[in-house]
Amino acid sequence: MNDGKKRDTRRGGDELVFMALGGLGEIGMNVYLYGFGPERGRKWLMVDLGITFPGENEPGADVVLPDLRFIQAERNALAGLVLTHAHEDHIGAVVELWPTLQCPIYATPFTAGMVRSKLGEYGKNLKLPITEVPLGGRCNVGPFDVEFVTLAHSIPEPSGLAIRTPAGTVFHTGDWKLDATPLVGAPPDEAKLKALGEEGVLAMICDSTNAMREGRSPSETDVAKSLAKIISNAPRRVAVTTFASNVARVKAVADAAHAAGRHLIVAGRALHRIIQVATDTGYLPENFTYFDQQRFKDMPADKVVVMCTGSQGEPRAAMARVAEDQHPDIGLDKGDLAIFSSRTIPGNEKDVGKVQNALARRGVDIITDNEALVHVTGHPRRDELRDMYAWVKPTIAVPMHGEARHLKEHARLALESGAKETFILTDGEVLKLWPDSAQRIDEAPVGRLYRDGNLIVPDADGPVRARRKLSFAGIAVVAMTVSRRGEILGEPEVALEGVPLVDAEGDDMHEIVLDCIDGTLRSIPGKRRGDIELVKDAVYRAVRSGIQQAWGKKPIVKVLISVVDARS
Ligand SMILES: [Zn+2]
Ligand SMILES: [Zn+2]
Repeated sequence: MNDGKKRDTRRGGDELVFMALGGLGEIGMNVYLYGFGPERGRKWLMVDLGITFPGENEPGADVVLPDLRFIQAERNALAGLVLTHAHEDHIGAVVELWPTLQCPIYATPFTAGMVRSKLGEYGKNLKLPITEVPLGGRCNVGPFDVEFVTLAHSIPEPSGLAIRTPAGTVFHTGDWKLDATPLVGAPPDEAKLKALGEEGVLAMICDSTNAMREGRSPSETDVAKSLAKIISNAPRRVAVTTFASNVARVKAVADAAHAAGRHLIVAGRALHRIIQVATDTGYLPENFTYFDQQRFKDMPADKVVVMCTGSQGEPRAAMARVAEDQHPDIGLDKGDLAIFSSRTIPGNEKDVGKVQNALARRGVDIITDNEALVHVTGHPRRDELRDMYAWVKPTIAVPMHGEARHLKEHARLALESGAKETFILTDGEVLKLWPDSAQRIDEAPVGRLYRDGNLIVPDADGPVRARRKLSFAGIAVVAMTVSRRGEILGEPEVALEGVPLVDAEGDDMHEIVLDCIDGTLRSIPGKRRGDIELVKDAVYRAVRSGIQQAWGKKPIVKVLISVVDARS
């Protein structure tokens, strides 16, 4: 790393740097690194290790994981991983990628509980060295003195991190909002945020998700009241689907059911898992009771509330199966009510629409956050961001957790709110925060990996990219047998997948391909036919261009040639 200028050599050339290996320019797959020390001897602190979900261009991939090769190469200098909260975009890659890092992990009790419960789910026999830090607690991770600061969000125990170093303090917000009545857990620790501002904060790395929305987000308690009213007025069965990790919402639905004299039924593994962890850690009462889904059929229509997984239209989750009348225990009919207590994450609109249409066809009434206050965001809108800047008063602002447009709007707001400087970074860009003026000094390798079945595979030259190509233009496979002397034995075999069967004139595509092969083989002089690579390449080109002429598109083409010792 060298920016061409002579570096400050006070303190033996110590520097404080920040970078993201995921989470800048997209909402998801959050992995942030802080480095302290001289350029060739930095100690690293990792904050969060999340996943994201594949888009339509990533066919067949289950989950997208960050490429950690930069920090894997420096793993002996990685002092620890601190987790801000238990959402998948912050902890989802821990179980799969921690074995490549082998560092200590620090998390508050609920977050730690969620990571451990994932271990059980994957059946992994891993012992993760998690140190539980109490809410608002403090831990030393290498040269970093990390203090947890309680905030509000859509899951218990969201924690900002005040990271103190000899270079000064950085405040890493994690995901947060302001909510004086969060329904579950303590409200944000405004006093500590103000105290940090008084102490002096060099830089704030802050959530940008809602930086384009004016105003303040409503409270979780407002949603609970609204749900209670809707459920108490419902004439028949009520099904509610929400993000399983939102414990406050789970409690709101349970309270609403109770107040309306209804029984609560819970359907879906992710909900059972979170209820277990939330009960163990005191966020739900120990006597939190609900009925198994098998009891549904015994309950009168006006005496039941079913809480279901599947708010994003996931086809295998409870809500989709209920909507399609495929659920073994739970069914909804005309006049029943389905509440989507959630927001549709961009990219999931079709899946959610499919579930809602199936419900509508069954005569089920539907309430979403368009019709009533049945959901609130977990991220700060602009007035909340302004409060945070007024309290923490950072010199440097680095927007994170957002797409480019969110980061840009956030940076502008930060400058208006008193920050002296902002940096809109991309994943991999290394920002030196201290000493002297802050500046980009380097770029680290970053990328995406996929969980693909049982394997983790790369993006570049990987199978997911190949499937993207296959999905666009299919594949043509040619198999031939030749003798050592270059004679073609028998007829070539052709298999086409995802390629039209006939062309515009009605000619058979197989025949077209066979004619191409035949013409090409005849054009190769006899003595050159022994050169298998030449034959292969000629057939490949002929088939590709032949199909392109007929179809207007080029499929993937594979030519397989086996060579045999033939008697002639
Ligand atoms: Zn979150
Ligand atoms: Zn997040």
